[in-house]
Amino acid sequence: MLQEIEKLLVLQDRDQQLKKLHHEQTALPTEKKKLADKLAAARATADAARQRLRDNEVERRKLELEVEAKQGAIARFRQQQQGTRKNEEYQALSHEITHAESQIRALEDRELELMEAAEQLQAPLQSAEAEAKRVESVTREQTAKLEAGATGLSDRIATLEADRAAQAAALPEEVHDLYQRLFKQKGDAAVVPLEAEICGGCHMRTPAQTVILLRAERQLVQCPNCARILYRAL
Ligand SMILES: [Zn+2]
Repeated sequence: MLQEIEKLLVLQDRDQQLKKLHHEQTALPTEKKKLADKLAAARATADAARQRLRDNEVERRKLELEVEAKQGAIARFRQQQQGTRKNEEYQALSHEITHAESQIRALEDRELELMEAAEQLQAPLQSAEAEAKRVESVTREQTAKLEAGATGLSDRIATLEADRAAQAAALPEEVHDLYQRLFKQKGDAAVVPLEAEICGGCHMRTPAQTVILLRAERQLVQCPNCARILYRAL
């Protein structure tokens, strides 16, 4: 195998590793955001369950006040009854009292309904709070892992980049330029094996002349179809 090919394959290995690591690095913020979104959603569910219970309490307190007000009114009507001698007025007050009492019963019925509803809200609230806590601990752990991974990733990238630079420096400039142009253009590989006359990059059959040139091992040979640099597969 041409020495240049050997060097190019090492360089390409570093470039492919670097590409993968850069890709992981780019994906990190998205991964972190996904975790944060998951936590926010779990917290929102717990908040909503808490709010439903709070609304229920507020409404119950409002009903209690209304009952108190009605009871106050009844007490006043009774006092007024004691102070009147007019039968008509007495009857009218009795009617007011009966009316207020029936309103109180309706308010108390509603209060009971709300109390039952509050009891039924407890279980979903507790499970939503437990779930929010669970998600919080899981996301905290996973975020820490991602951050630790990010640090490791930067270190690995720096090491690989230094190694890559050393490999690149050992190649003739025109070879390196050709390789780099192809690697960038193709996205996957610039140096590929030729197996049974088939290019490992574009999978097209190459002419016999290409195989002959490659066997001679005197120069770099490119695929006539995709221009990738070829080497003979062992
Ligand atoms: Zn090809």
